Amino acid sequence: MKHYFLPLLATLLIPPFSTVAKAEPTSYQSEIKISAAERKLAENITAEQLKDYLTFVSSDEMGGRDTPSIGQDITAQFLALNLKRWGFKPAGDKGTFFQKIMVSQEVVIPEKTTLKVGGTTFVYGRDYYRLAGNASAEGTFVYARDGWMVKSKGIDAYAGVDVKDKIVVIHASQGALISLPPTGVTAEDTKGKEGVDWASPVNYAIQRGAKALIVIAEPNIEQLWKSVDGMLGRTVEGIEAQSFKLDAPIPILLVKEKVGRALFAGETNGANSAKSFGINKTGVVAAAVETKKTSIQNVVAIWEGRDRKLKEEMVAVGAHYDHIGIGYPEGNEDAIYNGADDDGSGTVSLLAMAEALAKTKTRAKRSLLFVWHTGEEKGQWGSKYFTKYPTVDLKKVVAQLNIDMIGRSKPNGDTNPANADLSKPNEIYVIGSNMMSSTLNRVTRETNSAYTKLDYNFRYDDPKDPNKFYYRSDHFFYAQNGIPIVFWFDGVHEDYHQPSDEIGKIDFAKMERVARTIFLTLLEVADLDQRPAVDKQLPPELTIKN
Ligand SMILES: [Zn+2]
Repeated sequence: MKHYFLPLLATLLIPPFSTVAKAEPTSYQSEIKISAAERKLAENITAEQLKDYLTFVSSDEMGGRDTPSIGQDITAQFLALNLKRWGFKPAGDKGTFFQKIMVSQEVVIPEKTTLKVGGTTFVYGRDYYRLAGNASAEGTFVYARDGWMVKSKGIDAYAGVDVKDKIVVIHASQGALISLPPTGVTAEDTKGKEGVDWASPVNYAIQRGAKALIVIAEPNIEQLWKSVDGMLGRTVEGIEAQSFKLDAPIPILLVKEKVGRALFAGETNGANSAKSFGINKTGVVAAAVETKKTSIQNVVAIWEGRDRKLKEEMVAVGAHYDHIGIGYPEGNEDAIYNGADDDGSGTVSLLAMAEALAKTKTRAKRSLLFVWHTGEEKGQWGSKYFTKYPTVDLKKVVAQLNIDMIGRSKPNGDTNPANADLSKPNEIYVIGSNMMSSTLNRVTRETNSAYTKLDYNFRYDDPKDPNKFYYRSDHFFYAQNGIPIVFWFDGVHEDYHQPSDEIGKIDFAKMERVARTIFLTLLEVADLDQRPAVDKQLPPELTIKN
């Protein structure tokens, strides 16, 4: 599950969590019967097996499976090795299990990247990031509030100060990486010529001759500091990467509040000053990067169906096997984001399903398409790429079942507000099943009612869900391509996108039940006489607007 980033340059909004409950239809006349053989097949998925696989996938040695990283590549090799042994058909590029994707990344050169304020030297990553530029500057600082100029509103952050050859310091605003237009400024106000009628902070700083720009991040950005790192300076061949990438002739840094405190220490004016002012300190700002090209990969495999005709069709099941890598801790605390739940849980659930299939001779009518997606945390790169450049005939994919975080449950008596929306041991959130296909919705509900009887919570299955969970995992791009989806998710918790998302916190008994239920749902869809009809239009709120 990725953070919700608006695809707007410099915008990074975290929506508030909502507690809107949704009424759920209660009475069902089930058509689904789970046979003893199917039960037995599902019982091949066990808590112990899931734990074994997750021990490997979420180990510190995998380094948080960042995109790109060696740890993620090793995980891909581990998946492929098992798939090959179990007799799966490779469905990536050129007869392999891998669909390769080229990524280019601006990698910071640490010894040439510096931030000094007076006598204090800050640490790259831990204290600041580079947003843009490949240059260095030395000089005094000028504080220029939000850095904006809007003539029609009489707004000029540089009124009364000269920033030529200075290092400009501004505050970010409204959840963005760089400040958004000040409140009260309308689209009308920024209709004229940029640089004359109005100017954004970066362009205004350059235009007025600043040597460097420092942006002080808001507290909510500091809280997801590591996730921000992954959003910087990346491009993916063939798709829009949703990354913050800006070309600027001056170095631009995003800094934590503590850098701001060092800047304002001992000054007459402070961070809350209504006027811009010169800061009586000198410093150094230097940013140096080199562009590196790397390949990443989706892992794609097919388990063929038994029906001569229907096996041309596929039911897809997916998870993302990437996570967010290694952070920059203040002290020597844990820096590895293991991603045991997110989405190690989905990754190994798919693997356990694959192993269960390999243990039986009976097959479903349709084929099963397994896709482990890369780069989900960076902006669903893998699923976006796979659905744009599919290695299979996408029209033959009748449904996609997505698993992203199914390993956690809220312990009894837990009062931590960060776990308020975490599902209980017998509960799981189910999202999207009813958006496009009545049949898929029916099969999803009935399989559960006829089998595990988990408490399916449909609270987020709402086009107006303010958390926008529907946008935030890989199923989204399948749905955009007309494929009905179901998404299983355990809810946000205290360890979401933290180094503490570790194997010790996983509820394997729950994960076993959820994985078995999804597995049987997959088989039920694969055995339908007719593919699930798309009899509803995806609500406009859930459609990419061009
Ligand atoms: Zn995530």
